[in-house]
Amino acid sequence: MAFDTFVQVEDNIDWVNHHENIVRRVTKRLTIDNEVPQSPTMAGMRATAARLQVIAAAAVAAGVQVRACGARWSFSDIPVAENGWIVETDRLGWRFNVAEGDVEPTSVTLADDLILAQCGAKISKINEALETPQKRRTLRTMGASNGQTVGGALGTGTHGSAIDVGGLESQVAGIQLLTATQNLWIERASAPVMTAAFAAKLGATLVRDDAKFEAAIVSLGSLGFVHAALLRTTGRHLLNSSLSHIPMGQIATALNTLMFQGSGIPDMTRRPYFFQAIFDPRGMDKAFTTVRYKEACRPDYQPDYDLHTGYEPGTDVPRMIAHAITAFPDLRDTAVSLMMASELRVRADTPNEWRLPGEVYTFTSAREGLVSTGFAVPIGQVTTVLNILRDAFLTQPSSPVVFTCRYAQKSPGILSFIRYDPTCVVDIDGISTGASLKLVKIAADRLEAAGMPFTQHWGKFNNLTKVRVRNAYGSSVDRWNATRKLLLPDAAERNAFSSPLLDSLGLND
Ligand SMILES: Cc1cc2nc3c(=O)[nH]c(=O)nc-3n(C[C@H](O)[C@H](O)[C@H](O)COP(=O)(O)OP(=O)(O)OC[C@H]3O[C@@H](n4cnc5c(N)ncnc54)[C@H](O)[C@@H]3O)c2cc1C
Repeated sequence: MAFDTFVQVEDNIDWVNHHENIVRRVTKRLTIDNEVPQSPTMAGMRATAARLQVIAAAAVAAGVQVRACGARWSFSDIPVAENGWIVETDRLGWRFNVAEGDVEPTSVTLADDLILAQCGAKISKINEALETPQKRRTLRTMGASNGQTVGGALGTGTHGSAIDVGGLESQVAGIQLLTATQNLWIERASAPVMTAAFAAKLGATLVRDDAKFEAAIVSLGSLGFVHAALLRTTGRHLLNSSLSHIPMGQIATALNTLMFQGSGIPDMTRRPYFFQAIFDPRGMDKAFTTVRYKEACRPDYQPDYDLHTGYEPGTDVPRMIAHAITAFPDLRDTAVSLMMASELRVRADTPNEWRLPGEVYTFTSAREGLVSTGFAVPIGQVTTVLNILRDAFLTQPSSPVVFTCRYAQKSPGILSFIRYDPTCVVDIDGISTGASLKLVKIAADRLEAAGMPFTQHWGKFNNLTKVRVRNAYGSSVDRWNATRKLLLPDAAERNAFSSPLLDSLGLND
């Protein structure tokens, strides 16, 4: 099978994710580039889309499974199919401002509020494009670290920075999906945004359909290639961060309600933009609590994205643990305790330390050897869940892990794992050892045995089964499969864009 010079092909290689915990033999790795990477154009978008469609058609004809991946940041095998083809889309990083004339005249959305990002654009780069003194916009939410691509972050429903916003998919206004035979620009029927003429510039057909839209915004890579997404933005603002140590007895109500009176956070009269509590399961007596409040931003504020060196205290637990391992390589087994002592000290930003979201939630050089799992639960259950996880931990007390609670609002994808209204994502993060891997499994088993409603992050360590997915997503599984059939009417193509994992979970029925 010959592809043109903008598709590099390697045959029969081991595909490895960023954390090196997933290794799968693929029969082809296809790395795709834009023709003139430094010059984003709509003609270039059409050319790349056509190339992706050729790849899809070739995979269907060859009867192999074909999966797209982004930055390969997922800890799970969600991006890859053993013996299939993998298409690396992380070099497709174009971003476009939206012209007023491309917005549907009846839409309430303003062109300035939108950014069109090609699938491989890193969230960190989108932030940099938005947060300039000229554009003065920012994303409403993002992950704690932002090296993901937009295609990959939507692929699993990345969440994390804002308590009153859903996962990133909640900010999508339109999405471009490519299959072997179709190039679709999909929007909500209930919230049209772009004109048919705009879709045509992408070579796409405009589809306005709520179910197709809600399927496409979190697709696990199994609806075809996501080529571009139109993201809604908000006015740029600064974030003021602080870290406090708060007794469990005092913070418990806030953990279960997101109401902060009496919680011990720095300003109990203001709703924070971000709220995170980290617990050491060896004690659970206090929460290492990070909160961030929004502050106004001077129009001429110049961001500095080099601020983050990996040494800042605060948010991204995998990054902090990676830093502790790097700083104390001979003390790997005690790195978690060292991390908590050295990185989670009580502190508060002074006004000249307030930063834009893209400076706070920045790119991370992640590293191998970590375990990270995310259980999404209804917020009213958080302290019960923490007790269940603590009991699970006591069966594996040598596990070098911490528990982290982060919050988000219910998200609109059919397969959004942020399903509860609102949701707390309780992560178990730490160093990958036999004990911590066992803990992740025991924790899921215990939550299930307790009848706790929960989902698991698609892109982190998980122990998903067909029963668990059905229990968590209920009739959304049927809605997913029915909508998938509408988007991919050909069974051969549905199989091509699936994977052994997705087949086993009942998501290719
Ligand atoms: C250091 C670190 C910190 C993290 N922090 C957070 C966090 O704060 N919050 C959070 O929710 N998650 C977090 N994660 C998990 C991460 O955000 C998700 O796993 C995300 O999906 C990874 O994006 P990616 O670009 O690497 O995509 P990949 O991992 O490469 O792929 C993810 C999924 O997207 C699909 N996909 C990718 N590109 C395309 C495309 N072009 N078309 C169709 N499908 C595609 C893949 O098939 C796969 O199903 C973190 C991970 C790391 C390593």
